[in-house]
Amino acid sequence: MFDVNNIRKDFPILSRTVNGKPLVYFDNAATSQTPNQVIDVIADYYRNYNANIHRGVHTLSQEATDAYEAARNTIKSHFNAAHAHEIIMTSGTTHSINIIASGYTQLLKKGDELIVSAMEHHSNIVPWQMLCERTGAILKVIPMNHSGVLEMDVFNDLLCEKTKLVFVNHVSNALGTLNPIEEIIRQAHAVDAKVLIDGAQAAPHIKADVQALDVDFYVTSAHKLCGPTGVGMLYGKENILNLLPPYQGGGEMIAEVRFEKTTYADLPHKFEAGTPNISGGIAFGAALDYMNGIGLEAIAAYEQELLDYGTDKLKAIEGVKIYGEAPQKTAVISFNVNEIHPYDIGSILDKLGIAVRTGHHCAQPIMDFYKIPGTVRASFSFYNTKEEIDMMIKALNRAIQMLK
Ligand SMILES: *Cc1c(COP(=O)(O)O)cnc(C)c1O
Repeated sequence: MFDVNNIRKDFPILSRTVNGKPLVYFDNAATSQTPNQVIDVIADYYRNYNANIHRGVHTLSQEATDAYEAARNTIKSHFNAAHAHEIIMTSGTTHSINIIASGYTQLLKKGDELIVSAMEHHSNIVPWQMLCERTGAILKVIPMNHSGVLEMDVFNDLLCEKTKLVFVNHVSNALGTLNPIEEIIRQAHAVDAKVLIDGAQAAPHIKADVQALDVDFYVTSAHKLCGPTGVGMLYGKENILNLLPPYQGGGEMIAEVRFEKTTYADLPHKFEAGTPNISGGIAFGAALDYMNGIGLEAIAAYEQELLDYGTDKLKAIEGVKIYGEAPQKTAVISFNVNEIHPYDIGSILDKLGIAVRTGHHCAQPIMDFYKIPGTVRASFSFYNTKEEIDMMIKALNRAIQMLK
């Protein structure tokens, strides 16, 4: 049974105050909070078996290696990858995307085409623009409509034999839109293009099955699903990862080093140069265990209730305009009130203990599309409550009184 009051006890931060008021944390799309079960795993590592992995014969190193590889296996099972070595541990979504964008430098030629969507996070735009500068490839954009839904007929028209790669987020962090990735993958594969799905915003709510999706690359960050910052994953199909060169050179990623010639290690180590975020990787596994213990379906169903409740309450306020009303979306509400600058609303809400995001949410093209400087974004997680939404609505009404 999903019991939010019990769940909240796992998150020590939720009982603190901000500016003398109880914290209401609605910035979950930027980073999620961390339960004791994950905090304890990190502390346990440093207290009891802190050691470098994959090299020592001593007991601590073996314990650390076993825990790290067990976490890789948890991640592999969660996303249903065929092999554990298809899971590359990275520092997060941004790092994962850069590994692929950098790796494609040798595989592209001038005039090749890449397709991105209009609703991407900057980390799924800029590395590809840099790739285009290096190779002469051309970046095309799938447009979106005013509800924040991709125009799939235009996507179909953009696809051609020149298309080599398509990269789209599973869920938009700025709008909450759930994109039709099954269809995107199927259509891209019909012209032999590879597909990277940015799952940073989807992974906390939706279990992606990479084999069923037949996706070529799927990337995410641990810190959006109750894990620590600075760790994430790159899933890639074995045969494609084997075609790509290493991203960084260094320790861990080599088979043999000679001054005449160095050979590289097999997957996944080829892409894991240097000492990784060991406690973070272990805690990533613990975070998935924690979320699966509650159940992603129960989480998504409860968050949908919060989304519906919050959307109705916000719409009842005069002057509120919501950006992103896709029929299928996660619990993210981007909005503005009349001509009030989002920053001013965010600052007053903070004074009242309520944490929301303001600005362009690392998705400036979306703001340009709507011709706005930014939005206020309230993003809910499974540990939030309707009472907290009521507190935000009350605070927002106060802010509007003060600012009008
Ligand atoms: C948060 C986010 C990213 C970036 O993740 P990092 O952890 O900062 O690398 C990329 N894409 C989407 C959709 C996101 O929500």
